[in-house]
Parts: sequence; structure tokens; C-alpha cells
Amino acid sequence: MFERIYPAKIILPMKMHSGVPAVPSVKKGDYVRIGQCVGIPAKGTFSVPVHSGISGYVTDISEITLPNGIITPAVTIVNDMKRTRLDSVKPRSGFKLSASEAIGIIRDAGICGMGGEGIPTAAKLKRAKTEVVKDFLVNCLQSEPYSTSDLVAITEYPDYVVLGSCACARAVGASRCVFLISENRKEQRQAIANSIDKIRNDFKDLEFDIKLFRERFPQGYYRLVARALYGKNLVPGETLEKTCSAVLFNCSTMLACWEALSDNIPMMSRIVSVSGDASGGHNMLVPVGTPVSELLTNAQDIKNGSDRIVWGNCLTGIEITDPENTPVVKTTSVISVVRRAEVPRTPCIHCGLCSECCPMNLSPNTIYEMLNQGLKQKAAEEGARDCIACGSCSYVCPAGINLTTAIASFAGEGRIIEINSLLDNSGASDKELEAASFVGEASLLEEYPDRDKKSRASSPDSITLPFEKDKEV
Ligand code: SF4
Ligand code: SF4
Repeated sequence: MFERIYPAKIILPMKMHSGVPAVPSVKKGDYVRIGQCVGIPAKGTFSVPVHSGISGYVTDISEITLPNGIITPAVTIVNDMKRTRLDSVKPRSGFKLSASEAIGIIRDAGICGMGGEGIPTAAKLKRAKTEVVKDFLVNCLQSEPYSTSDLVAITEYPDYVVLGSCACARAVGASRCVFLISENRKEQRQAIANSIDKIRNDFKDLEFDIKLFRERFPQGYYRLVARALYGKNLVPGETLEKTCSAVLFNCSTMLACWEALSDNIPMMSRIVSVSGDASGGHNMLVPVGTPVSELLTNAQDIKNGSDRIVWGNCLTGIEITDPENTPVVKTTSVISVVRRAEVPRTPCIHCGLCSECCPMNLSPNTIYEMLNQGLKQKAAEEGARDCIACGSCSYVCPAGINLTTAIASFAGEGRIIEINSLLDNSGASDKELEAASFVGEASLLEEYPDRDKKSRASSPDSITLPFEKDKEV
């Protein structure tokens, strides 16, 4: 269950993803409709477009600083509450798509990973296709404390999650579609199993599997999945695609892909949990760009003004002080509302708790000391680059030492290089995708039917998707 929030305004950052920011394609005073593209990739870059989830007028275009320190242009749109939608945002009629066309639609719909770093989904699909992966893995685990937005997405839209996964699995040429679910999530497991049964005949070329994981945090990070499913310890630089012949996507991202492929809906809204030890727990469907203050106003059990409002989960998220000007972005799965606790600050007492809880078997206190002394090489030899920034070590530390920030930012330098190489090698120069690139119109989603007609007949890798006829959005 979720509540629908229709905010008075949205603030749309042009960078909500890994990679180059989009460029605003509207100007102050313009009227925009639901589904309209308001930010386009700069020419020659592999970026992610941005779309409006409300109708109304552009009142501001200026630079903002997001809580994670990213400085980005942002388009502010004031809602006219008329909910006027672009004509193109409607179900597609049944036809074949080539794999490249399907990936092109996902790219033009502005879809990036909704569960983590916001990697452009089209780039990841393209690389998986190039690497000829066998397994298409769908992460339905959502193990972060208080976050249940993915679980709600599965419960409410299981068919969309499964169909999106099947379509993308076909687009990359995978032969097995595997859903990763926590053993305690019986409702989600049943919902996915029922949806698989419904569409099995439409995807006879795909094998299906559900893998159960223990309920604990963290789960679902690609390196933990590689170890759990394939017994491989990926070292930094090694990819799931190359080493395990698999690719991993978040379940909400798959839902967004099916919305784009089936209903021509760009990524313009998402489900967000508003939850913590100071809130009973809410899930809200909001347009991307909704100010956090709108969510807090609608979560009526949040009363205590001294609670910490965290952009993200309470272990790794960032406390915010200005919820009115802090937007929900494409990767925001939870706004945590937690009681402010007095944390003791002492030197390390060598209790060993941080090492006990580290899912990557690191010694966070040792690495932290090395980094403090500037011994980066030694820290790297100690495995610091394996840190997945889960936040567990800082959370358990009785001395209140913020181990995660130091270790994760050191590891993050390597991760940025990995992501950049993914974007560089994902087909940015691919002729077919380039042909589908933006030229600055309001929405190129409307272009697809014509392009499809021309290329479909001659495409050697056509995939047929089972669309429902006459379906209402
Ligand atoms: S944040 Fe801490 S516990 Fe988590 S992987 Fe990094 S060092 Fe280990
Ligand atoms: S948990 Fe904190 S106090 Fe305990 S060993 Fe680790 S850094 Fe030291």
C-alpha cells in the first residue's frame, strides 16, 4: 500500500545519476506537461534525460547543491494541479522491438538504477549484451533498515516487475531470469511466482528461478551476490558480467523499464519510504523532484522537530536540514526519520565489533588508522578498496567513530573509475543508439513508432513483447 502525493512544486536536478548531468531544455515561464522531457543529454555524452511528473509552469532554473555535495542545475516547476499529460504517454500497441530499440526506449525514458548509484540502465544493458551474459538477476532484497519501497513495488505491481525483467533479459540475450528475494518475504515471493506463471508461455526461451537469501543487512550489493550465487570474490575492477556471466538490476528499475516499454511512461515518479524509529512507516508514490518537506507533511505521525531527517537510509544516508529545498531524486528509496541519540566519542576501545559486522571481512579500525596516518598503499593492501559503504561499522562502533566515511570515500575513488569505464564502454558511440539521441524536442518518446516501423523488418535481433490490447494507463 502507498499514498499518492501530488506536490505543489517539484525541483528537478539535472544530475540524479552516475555520469554527465543533463542540460535544461525548457526556460523560465514554459508550460510543461506530465511526461515532458525538461533536461536532455548534452550532445555527444552518454547521460540521462529528466522528465516532469507534474504539469505546470517552470518558475526557476538555477544551480542547487544536493545533500551528497553534487552541484547541479535544477528546473523548478510549480504544479497547476491540472494533471495535463503528454499525448505520447499512453500504452504502445503490440509490435516487435529490436533489442537496441528496447534499450533506446529505456535510455530515452531517463531510467537509471533506482537502488543505488543511479547507473544509466541503458548503459548497463548494453554492456550486458556485449558481454553475452547468461543470467539476468533481479534484486528484490531491499535489506536497508526501514526501507520497504521496493517491497511495496513488488506487492503492488508484480506483473510489471516480472515483465520488465523478462523484456530486459531478452534484450541482452540472457537465458535465465533469476529473482533474489529474502526468505522472510513470503508475500513478495508469492507475488513474483504468480506473475512468472502468468507470462511463462510468452517467454518460453527464458528459464526462471527464485533464489532465497537470509534476511539481513547488507544484501543485494553485486559483490555480495557474486559470492552468494557463484562463489566468486570479485576484486575491484572485476565485473559480475565478465566473471559470473550475470547482470544485476534492482526490481523497481525493472518496473520502470516495463512502464517505458509498455506504456511509454518515462521515469518521472517513484515510491519512497518515509520511515524510522521516529515514524510508523509510510510509502508514498511521488513525482521525482518532490521536496522532502511534502513527504514529511503527509507523514502525520512525525511530530518531533528534533528528529534527524536523513536523505537515504539511516546507516549511510545524509542528514538534511532544509527539507523544503531538498528533492526526492531517482535513487531516493527512503527518507529516514530517526531519533537523535547522544553518541559517545572516545578513542577506539578495540572491541572488534566493526570487524565482526563487516560483510567484506575487513578490519575497519585497522584501515581507518592507516588512512588517518596517510598510509593509503597499506590500507589498499588491507583490502580497503573492497569496502561497499554499507555503514555497518560506524553504526555498531561504541566509540562513535565514523569509520565508513573515511574508508568508503577511499574505496569510492576506485568505484568512480569503474563506473566511468562502464559508461565509456557501454555503447556511447553505438550508431543505432546515437541515431536515437536527443535533438532538443520536448519529448522524443513520440518518435518511436515511426523509427520502429523502419527498422523492425530488417532487425536480426527482434524481440516480441506481449502487450495487452487497449490497456488504459
Ligand atoms: S562500511 Fe564498514 S562494514 Fe561496510 S563494507 Fe565498508 S568497512 Fe565494511
Ligand atoms: S567498533 Fe569502534 S571501538 Fe570497536 S574496534 Fe571498531 S573502531 Fe574500535
